[in-house]
Amino acid sequence: NRYITIKTHIDSAPKESHFELKTAALALSVAPGSNYVIVKNLYVSIDPYQVNRMKSYSSSHKATSFSVGICPGEAIDAHGAGRVVASGNPNFEKDDLVIGLLTWGEYSVLKEGKALNKLDPMGFPLTYHVGILGTSGLTAYGGFFEVCKPKKGEKVFVSAASGSVGNLVGQYAKLFGCYVVGCAGSKQKVELLKGKLGFDDAFNYKEETDLKSALKRYFPDGIDIYFDNVGAGMLEAAVANMNAFGRVAACGVISEYTGGLRAAPDMVDVVYKRITIQGFLVVDFMNVRADFLSRTSDHLRTGKMQAIEDIVAGVESIPSAFLGLFRGDNIGKRLVKIADE
Ligand code: NDP
Repeated sequence: NRYITIKTHIDSAPKESHFELKTAALALSVAPGSNYVIVKNLYVSIDPYQVNRMKSYSSSHKATSFSVGICPGEAIDAHGAGRVVASGNPNFEKDDLVIGLLTWGEYSVLKEGKALNKLDPMGFPLTYHVGILGTSGLTAYGGFFEVCKPKKGEKVFVSAASGSVGNLVGQYAKLFGCYVVGCAGSKQKVELLKGKLGFDDAFNYKEETDLKSALKRYFPDGIDIYFDNVGAGMLEAAVANMNAFGRVAACGVISEYTGGLRAAPDMVDVVYKRITIQGFLVVDFMNVRADFLSRTSDHLRTGKMQAIEDIVAGVESIPSAFLGLFRGDNIGKRLVKIADE
């Protein structure tokens, strides 16, 4: 079994040299009644939050409270889709398709399979169940509808808008009847947002010298909802342009994960404009998961939503695929394909 691990905790900007491809012998069988499940990984998710789990616990960046830190040398757990090759657990049989917490490797050896579920692909590609019908989709759906509490016609700004979560937030917001502007880091991404994805407008934030005045140009009447994926200066600029009773959904702060940046939004604005800034985690939305799945799969079937995917091949590509998130290499949901179905 080949799998990716970190050599040490990573408290600086992550580099390829922090990662290692390890090989370990693995018997593809389990003792009956052992409860172990061995899964052949087919697709694994590549997500920015993993970088927070790679930091040392003693560093100033606290280990995330929602998922345990990653230990150097050990397999790194990550969402993914796979096929059961051996099971001592009565809930799973050999050849079952499964979705859940696997590992960044060729096989996942799961002690109890607690965070694993059988997967009915419902006629969709497996990759959709990791992205648009999986965690990214639920994050966008719950973050937008439950946290932003949108009203039709409201003006919505989304950052990292061509990314996995961001592009879906924009698509939901358009379908709901909002005015949507996204920002992203390249011309090609901006074209995707304005073209195929139907955003009302989009801009390349890397070409703007003053984010506050850029947002003033795109939202002359102010922003009602900001779906924040990046934090730092973008959050400050958005808060400066928010309308009274505006909502900021703090989904993630990727620009703050690897450097020393921290957002300092103008709190006088927050007070006088009665702005709500709310953080959330995808696990908060399990109560709306069934609605999310049925609405999103309908939208996919009727062509009202598009799945934008960015699939890299091979277990050895995981570190570069992961580091690429922080360079903006990906367009849409980034996954690594580990093996043929
Ligand atoms: P993406 O697919 O959006 O990939 C990351 C993107 O972020 C890149 O493509 C890049 O696009 C952009 N980016 C990278 N560095 C910077 C930077 N310094 N400044 C601005 N933009 C940057 O990832 P996800 O959709 O998976 O995640 C988006 C955000 O949502 C992250 O912050 C993540 O942590 C968070 N998240 C939160 C969850 C929750 O439960 N709260 C669940 C899932 C994700 P560009 O070219 O536009 O710069």
